[in-house]
Amino acid sequence: MRKYVIMGVQGSGKGTQSQLLARDLDLVHISVGDIFRWNVQNHTKMGAQVRRVMAAGELVSDDLVESVVRDRLTAHDWNYGFIIDGFPRNARQAEFFLESYDIDGVVYLDLPDSEVRRRVLNRRLCANCGMDYNLLANSPREPGKCDVCGGELVTREDDTEEALAVRLREYHEKTGPLLDLFRRKEYVITVDARSAPDMVQQDIRERLGLPPAKPDTTHQPPGPAGA
Ligand code: AMP
Repeated sequence: MRKYVIMGVQGSGKGTQSQLLARDLDLVHISVGDIFRWNVQNHTKMGAQVRRVMAAGELVSDDLVESVVRDRLTAHDWNYGFIIDGFPRNARQAEFFLESYDIDGVVYLDLPDSEVRRRVLNRRLCANCGMDYNLLANSPREPGKCDVCGGELVTREDDTEEALAVRLREYHEKTGPLLDLFRRKEYVITVDARSAPDMVQQDIRERLGLPPAKPDTTHQPPGPAGA
């Protein structure tokens, strides 16, 4: 059983790296942001609650986030463990998490803000299956169309200059300091996130003492609710 947290600023590749790790190790990938996006897309009550906050780049309330994480983790479909992405994002969430779960490692994807802007403003998402694209490094074969399902590629509502500025500020004020907390517990491995995704993955595996990645033959989109 392996339990990991992946941290890093927006656009540092948390989703991509989590999926690569989860795929080979049979871990469940839990992305709190994906769960919220799924709810927004499917017009649920929770979606209505979080849509405006997310679009502005602000953080959703701790109570709601904690209940989402608690519900997701009590599903107990993670026999081999999990990798959680986008959580915890502040001191209260970290306390809640560490009280309930012991973790094996925190992967910190280190990326300078200038690179974050370049990546985030070029990010596109398939409106149908959620597959992530980057127009700089990983553009679709046909412009505006998903390679996997043919769905329309859209910009995330919070991938704008304004929302990005808020998200970066939130990150540096509230999330960054958590690294010190985790470092004191000797959980953290820091990985340079500027390299190509497969190099970053290789680095993560070496640092965590895991076997190298198996070749990807699938090219799967993410699950519907960050699972
Ligand atoms: P992400 O996909 O991780 O960038 O998350 C997208 C958005 O979902 C964030 O900008 C927040 O509005 C919300 N969100 C995701 N995770 C959290 C969290 N742990 N705490 C508060 N808000 C969150």
